[in-house]
Amino acid sequence: MRPKATIREVGLRDGLQLVKSFLPTDKKVAWCKEEVAAGLREIEATSFVPAKVVPQFADAAEVAREAVAVDKLTVAALVPNFKGAVRGFEAGVHKINYVLSASETHNLANVRRPVEESLADFKRIIAERNARGLTTKIVGAIATAFGCTIQGQVPEREVLRLVECLTEAGSDEIALADTVGYANPAQIKRIFSAAASMFSGPIYAHFHDTRGLGLANVAAAADVGITRFDASIGGLGGCPFAPGASGNIDTEDTAFLLESMGFDTGLDIQKLVALRGKVAQWLPDERVGGMIAKAGLPKTFALAS
Ligand code: ZN
Repeated sequence: MRPKATIREVGLRDGLQLVKSFLPTDKKVAWCKEEVAAGLREIEATSFVPAKVVPQFADAAEVAREAVAVDKLTVAALVPNFKGAVRGFEAGVHKINYVLSASETHNLANVRRPVEESLADFKRIIAERNARGLTTKIVGAIATAFGCTIQGQVPEREVLRLVECLTEAGSDEIALADTVGYANPAQIKRIFSAAASMFSGPIYAHFHDTRGLGLANVAAAADVGITRFDASIGGLGGCPFAPGASGNIDTEDTAFLLESMGFDTGLDIQKLVALRGKVAQWLPDERVGGMIAKAGLPKTFALAS
């Protein structure tokens, strides 16, 4: 039995938030269904932000409801505040990824308030979930955990302080995000090891490949026991409020890496590559990356799986 590793698709959220042309709702839902057909079991399908801030997510409630109806799929949605979480509860998503930043300046730019206010809202969201009698998982997602394009250095003790606060507040899961592609493997090992010693629930790693270290960081995180990774088909992605942020790690390439390392991702890489082709057609103005799609799987790959 190979150890399991989980890849969560975030292309529909992180990948699409910078895309200017509106991807029609039926295409977004088709994207979810094809991911499931490729073996994927969790997707961050949308974001409950005001449509005037990110017009791409004007159909968030509809996408969420249709994604929730897809068999075998856990549907997460990103929310920046209490109001977004309530919209998520009403749409019936399984998971709320509540984002706050370890960088005070990024938090002000991204969710327009100080980190302490974000933490206070996190507690209100958990109380609201409980008051509604829902089983929705609430995830504390820490953005800019490895550095920030606006603030620069983000102290590790601040990241770990937030992990502690989220743990005490009753977070079901925690995600650490390298929003701007600043992280390196040594830093990844240090911070994820420390976070895992403080929080016993599932920890997700969210990496961007802005400087080419995305997959090196996946390998480093896997080395210290992290087995849950966010990724985006064709490496689409970026943060509209973090200058210079680009490209999530690529779903197909991340699956290839983890399978090559001996993990069972449950994913059919060829089907993911086929979906990447469709997404590239749907978004003709976007840069769609991915090395496996270009080079193909090595002949020796079957030996690894
Ligand atoms: Zn991201």
